[in-house]
Amino acid sequence: MRVSTGRAIQSDSRMFTVVVEGLGIGRQRQAERRFTVPFNQLQGLMQSIAQQGGRIRAVLGADGAGGDTPAAAPAPAAPAPKVKAAPSKPAAVSHADVPVNLYKPKDPFIGTVTENYSLLADGAIGRVNHITFDLKGGDPQLHYVEGQSIGIIPDGTDANGKPNKLRLYSIASTRHGDNLAGDTVSLCVRQLQYEKDGETINGVCSTFLCDIEPGAKVKITGPVGKEMLLPADEDANVIMLATGTGIAPMRTYLRRMFEPAEREKNGWTFKGKAWLFMGAPTTANLLYDDDFNRYQEQYPDNFRYTKAISREQQNASGGRMYIQDRVSENAEEIFSWIENPKTHVYMCGLRGMEPGIDEAMATAAAAKNLNWSELRPQLKKAERWHVETY
Ligand SMILES: Cc1cc2nc3c(=O)[nH]c(=O)nc-3n(C[C@H](O)[C@H](O)[C@H](O)COP(=O)(O)OP(=O)(O)OC[C@H]3O[C@@H](n4cnc5c(N)ncnc54)[C@H](O)[C@@H]3O)c2cc1C
Repeated sequence: MRVSTGRAIQSDSRMFTVVVEGLGIGRQRQAERRFTVPFNQLQGLMQSIAQQGGRIRAVLGADGAGGDTPAAAPAPAAPAPKVKAAPSKPAAVSHADVPVNLYKPKDPFIGTVTENYSLLADGAIGRVNHITFDLKGGDPQLHYVEGQSIGIIPDGTDANGKPNKLRLYSIASTRHGDNLAGDTVSLCVRQLQYEKDGETINGVCSTFLCDIEPGAKVKITGPVGKEMLLPADEDANVIMLATGTGIAPMRTYLRRMFEPAEREKNGWTFKGKAWLFMGAPTTANLLYDDDFNRYQEQYPDNFRYTKAISREQQNASGGRMYIQDRVSENAEEIFSWIENPKTHVYMCGLRGMEPGIDEAMATAAAAKNLNWSELRPQLKKAERWHVETY
């Protein structure tokens, strides 16, 4: 995928052009098509392209607001860069003993909701809840590790009268669960809401979950996913880039690393460095913020917590502060971490965050005479660049 390295305009009116192949039928599928949309429609567009079997070739920052603006030309490549920061050996991410698909949609596990509470402070935008399910009584016992997801099949039927299909959610608790008893799983769920033809549409599963009461029974599948596993190495360095509910896997890592009772339980004594970049629209929308502030106080040599609060903070050019601006601000240091083969980078959140991060990384890489489009696949191959966006 080719990503423009031109600077995006930092506001919600930013336009992006998505270059797609494989849409339509017959010869049409060969043709390249371009769609230019504002930032807030980027995710919906990408989902609909994926649903129609299209392949996204590039997401380009487009200049200007409104209209079918031409895509910005890709920025000039860095001058004949040699990839220096390439990893020399595969990183130690253990895939052994990672449970996968213990429960499938045809025969899901029936979990019981034990709690469901808002994670947002007064004045926050939207609705984000922390929801915990009791997993006791399964045969096999539903278990999982940090970085995996589970599927939820919401009650009810879809528009065609068929049973609702499952939706995936990143697990927000460590393998021991929030109660450390090893028999619960927690999720961090944002209610999807959007306007269509003057009407507010509520997402089926996210609304089902945000509204659910303790005691309710829920169909659960999985666990799935090996993309976001933590390295077993206690000396690893971990850079985390999260927006919104993308914090879920990061919470599992940080609890595993720094939560006292969890550390005692897991027998894994993290000695490396962890750096969380968290993006949210307002301070009231920061998720698990008190815990992360506490970890930073308790482990100042091991944990850094950098927030990008778009509607309250300004970036260097006076626009809204997004996570990619924080990446740009700290580019020098981020790249010096990446030069260390023990460093892993994890990105999670809405798919729309990817172009901005890529752009920031490409610019930062170019400043170090590195070519990000060559370096990123190498990091990925070495299992040091982990992305889960949706
Ligand atoms: C690996 C993975 C992990 C995930 N983890 C989490 C998580 O931790 N927390 C979380 O909250 N979510 C997570 N999700 C997203 C989750 O799976 C659901 O997609 C989300 O909750 C919405 O589902 P829903 O049933 O509420 O919406 P649906 O009723 O399924 O509606 C979604 C559909 O609405 C349409 N739509 C969406 N936005 C717009 C718009 N602006 N304009 C027009 N149409 C639109 C699109 O067609 C989209 O497919 C994850 C997804 C994946 C793949």
